Amino acid sequence: MGLILHDVDVAGERVAVRIEDGAVASVGSEDRSRSSGEVIDGRGGALLAGLHDHHLHVLALAAARRSISVSASTTNNATFAAALRDASTRGPVRAVGYHERVFGGLDRDVLDGIVRGVPVRVQHRTGGLWILNSCALEQIEPSRLADARFERDHAARLTGRLWRGDDLVRDDAGLRDGEIAAIGSELAAVGVTAVTDATASNDPSSVACLRALPQRVRVMGPIELALDDSERLTLGEVKVVPDDDDLPDIDDLVRLVLEAHGRGRGVAVHCVTLVQVRFAIEAFRVAGVRGDRIEHASVAPADVIADLHALGLTVVTQPAFVSARGDEYMTDVDPRDVAALYPTASLLAAGVPTRGSSDAPYGPIDPWEAMRAAVQRRTARGTVVGASERIRPSNALALFTGSDTVRAGLPADLVLLSVPLSDALARLRRDDVVLTIVGGAVVYDARERPPRAG
Ligand SMILES: [Zn+2]
Repeated sequence: MGLILHDVDVAGERVAVRIEDGAVASVGSEDRSRSSGEVIDGRGGALLAGLHDHHLHVLALAAARRSISVSASTTNNATFAAALRDASTRGPVRAVGYHERVFGGLDRDVLDGIVRGVPVRVQHRTGGLWILNSCALEQIEPSRLADARFERDHAARLTGRLWRGDDLVRDDAGLRDGEIAAIGSELAAVGVTAVTDATASNDPSSVACLRALPQRVRVMGPIELALDDSERLTLGEVKVVPDDDDLPDIDDLVRLVLEAHGRGRGVAVHCVTLVQVRFAIEAFRVAGVRGDRIEHASVAPADVIADLHALGLTVVTQPAFVSARGDEYMTDVDPRDVAALYPTASLLAAGVPTRGSSDAPYGPIDPWEAMRAAVQRRTARGTVVGASERIRPSNALALFTGSDTVRAGLPADLVLLSVPLSDALARLRRDDVVLTIVGGAVVYDARERPPRAG
């Protein structure tokens, strides 16, 4: 049984697209005599290659959906403690999005002063730091507490701060049925047909969870992660997260890159500072590049961009950080670095392969918001950050769809919009998504929703 998308706009032409066996079988004038299967009337709406969110964290996203937000935009010094106390009346508290601006530096004692007797843990908005109260610490196995990522003070007492230790407090055991599928539906509703899960600590149990997504999934993880590649799940890059204050030995990174290449995998290095990106570049200069990626490239001045291009590295950027966090960057980031924050136009102009992503839950999940941010680079308060880095709407869309237009032979990972491409590009809105198709199967259909009243 095939599917025919009748009267859709592909690259400016009104055509019919026939889907068979999970792939695009033909694009052109409709031959009704050969038509078997369901026919969907596209009403002239654009048919695009499905969107790929090239960097997000699905399990963290599911956890964030059952967390409270304590970000600077939802809480302040006066309401932070009350928000934690209120949440603690309903059970253990998982709070995310924290910024020091809200309540200063946190440790177990500060949190104990707010909530005792109920486990509370607060995640820093960067995702790299958890702060636990004493009750939450008590619930962790003693063998895990011995891990050096649990910070201790000069008297060897746990401070409650846990650095880059998601795996030590992970709670996917508490994952409820349907939670991952719900994330999949959320992504399908914005036109996402493929994701790359960029979690460094992915293991067989996270892989099992990720199978509940209707999207194609590329799974990053440590060098030892193995996966039976299936049609929908493939093994991605080895993820490396260097720490500015404690950079690994560059020879170790070189060795890891060589080992990954030997296994046919690339390496993706998390680079949010100039130190990190320069460190990664030096390692790749020695080890060579085979499909390797720089995640974020949050600070990338011209000389770094030239090196990225010369080495053939791909950059995976998060344009929505500029809109969602831009006001904080304007106060937190060294003014000399602001001009080089999350560059996009310069990367494209230099010919560096550049992909778009959300980094959800650390950034907004909606790729259309990211596209608008790439075009406007406007913060919530209306400041334009790095005006020269703005890009055209078609280029913003291509960060997520790639440059392929819909043609015969491609997998039927498609998004149908309610309007022609020119209209969609003028506004880049998630509301325009009508239908999302993965491998020929409809995974989201806005036409099923009851019409809005009025
Ligand atoms: Zn990330």
